[in-house]
Amino acid sequence: MLNSRLNPEPRPGVLKIKPYVPGKSHVPDVAKIYKLSSNESPLGPSPHAAAAFRAAADHLEDYPDGAATALREAIGHAHGLDPDRIVCGAGSDDLLALIARAYLADGEEAIHTTHGFLVYPIATLGAGATPIVAPEKDYTTDVDAILACVTGRTRVVFLANPNNPTGTFIPYDEVKRLHRGLPSNVLLVLDAAYAEYVQRNDYEAGIELVATSENVVMCRTFSKAYGLAALRLGWMYGPAHVVDAVHRIRGPFNVSAPAIEAGIAAVSDPAHVERARAHNDRWLPWLTEEIGRLGLEVTPSIANFILIHFPWRKGRTAAEAEAFLSARGLVLRQLLPYGLPHALRMSVGSEEANRLVVEALAAFMAKP
Ligand SMILES: *Cc1c(COP(=O)(O)O)cnc(C)c1O
Repeated sequence: MLNSRLNPEPRPGVLKIKPYVPGKSHVPDVAKIYKLSSNESPLGPSPHAAAAFRAAADHLEDYPDGAATALREAIGHAHGLDPDRIVCGAGSDDLLALIARAYLADGEEAIHTTHGFLVYPIATLGAGATPIVAPEKDYTTDVDAILACVTGRTRVVFLANPNNPTGTFIPYDEVKRLHRGLPSNVLLVLDAAYAEYVQRNDYEAGIELVATSENVVMCRTFSKAYGLAALRLGWMYGPAHVVDAVHRIRGPFNVSAPAIEAGIAAVSDPAHVERARAHNDRWLPWLTEEIGRLGLEVTPSIANFILIHFPWRKGRTAAEAEAFLSARGLVLRQLLPYGLPHALRMSVGSEEANRLVVEALAAFMAKP
């Protein structure tokens, strides 16, 4: 039966998605903006990556290598991995959505934690499946709570480790315990977007677990420590059968030629990532301590950002702090969509930006 009044309808779940609201990047009437809202690198990319990107502008008429072979080889070389087990994507967002589409169907479930990355429920609903939220403990992943959410309908568990926006992590022993507790038909997605920043012996990004199991994938990005967020470039490492499934459904040219060229140059310049890590090692503890000294609670982070909690009961709200800071060009991330209305997330910025935030927060807290 034809019914001319009805519009085309998206698949179930699509209209349940709350559109992703990116970190603010613009403040009217403020000349200089310090963007500390999306965990970008204050050091920017390797100069070699920027040069490779520019050089690619001479060949924009040609399609890229759809398999991104040279980039996968460069990543494999840098991390000691088989390039055949790597898939590249237009940001790790692209790969997370592809994994959801490949492994989730209507009525099935994917688990993430309370303050997990917002892309997980978006990817899950977009695939027609149901996001299941596992509670955290002290803003930290609780393995037992995730395992308690597993049902016969569970197909995927998304885990950001370290997590965004909390900055907390679970040690490798806990990741292994989570993996052991999952049925073998559930895919564990380890999102290690901030792995380059982590300086802990009890942390493992996922390489070892992927290499020794058939139901784990690890996602990585060039958007954070590599300073290439504008490029949209990420990669995943997984078992051969998962790699095969994701290759089948990805866009045939999902990574652009300039991204491939810049990515190769970026992974071939480990000294630049080292500089980003060293900068973070200096300023992450400094910010945590200085901001803590102002009477604000800061969740201990091992990534390149911190979660700052505001004493709203004492009349110092996160919304007011955000307005106070952004009027000074200091743009932090409000976290209402993450269910954290009383906190702001701050990326570790340049020395200048970090000092300005501490000064501004001191002024904010001292206000009558
Ligand atoms: C920033 C971030 C990413 C990276 O996304 P891209 O699409 O690669 O820019 C992935 N996961 C988490 C948890 C992040 O915070």
